Amino acid sequence: MTAIPYLDEVWSVTTGCGDDMVSPGCLNCYARRMFGRNLWECPECDGTGQIDVPGILYGQRDEMDCPRCDGTGHQDFTPTFHADRLDQPLHWRKPRRVGVSFMGDLFHEAITDEQIFRVWQTMTECSQHTFLVLTKRPQRMHDWWGRWWGVAEPNVWLGVTVCNQEEADRNVPILLDTPAAVRWVSLEPMLGAVDLLSVASDRDQYHYTNALEGYQIDGDMFGVPKLDWVVLGGETGPGARPMQPEWALDVYRQCKAAGVAFWFKSMGTAKIPPRWDWPGAPGTELLAEMQATHELPAVLAEAVTP
Ligand code: SF4
Ligand SMILES: [Zn+2]
Repeated sequence: MTAIPYLDEVWSVTTGCGDDMVSPGCLNCYARRMFGRNLWECPECDGTGQIDVPGILYGQRDEMDCPRCDGTGHQDFTPTFHADRLDQPLHWRKPRRVGVSFMGDLFHEAITDEQIFRVWQTMTECSQHTFLVLTKRPQRMHDWWGRWWGVAEPNVWLGVTVCNQEEADRNVPILLDTPAAVRWVSLEPMLGAVDLLSVASDRDQYHYTNALEGYQIDGDMFGVPKLDWVVLGGETGPGARPMQPEWALDVYRQCKAAGVAFWFKSMGTAKIPPRWDWPGAPGTELLAEMQATHELPAVLAEAVTP
């Protein structure tokens, strides 16, 4: 089990994002906080802080401070590809739902195309597992996929993070244009209202995509792939920003009406506005129903092609 309830395993084949903040959702990043606590060993020196180097005399060995961690023995938040972890999923016998690089972003610019290719190779070798890829860099995922892979693997679910409408408008259409067995959105931390029935960079009543029902209005109306799964949650931890229950309920209603699987994660740790504090407040029944909803997508073969 993991701290993320919809996953059985987190596969940290890459970690870290450095100082990059590509989204308002990065501000209180859990992974950055964890790395700040120096819980992870430096991969270069295995946590010893020292590396072996040739000495002055022939055959002699010396030790010096590991250049990767400056001798601290701790791994920092620099984007890192861990080649030694590539085969980890091969050793997990029972089928698992695996989060890929949830302590970083697989599509961070510092991770090379070849490294991502090797990650994909492992995922295809492990058809017993379901791999959940989640990125805040959907354009790179889209472009990499088109250049390097080109096949929608049935056990690889592609997801993007969306914190507010601006990110939904920018990220969701790119995801819908990337072939995948399952396309999903993680609205976590949810920082603003989001309408998934209407997304597009130049959204108005004549140009938008309904991402839950799978059609686009652009002068004409035509079918497009739709989202298969929505995960939603408020921010947790120090400095958490509040999620208005109305925002969450609105997306829940949208998914319910469209028949799209919905997984509620948590209200977050910021205080809920007072209107929702007392029993019997309007909407509290629906709020309870939403909080108990933990659906997974039905994997459909026809969802593979855009
Ligand atoms: S992309 Fe994810 S892991 Fe990277 S800084 Fe943002 S929230 Fe943290
Ligand atoms: Zn080191």
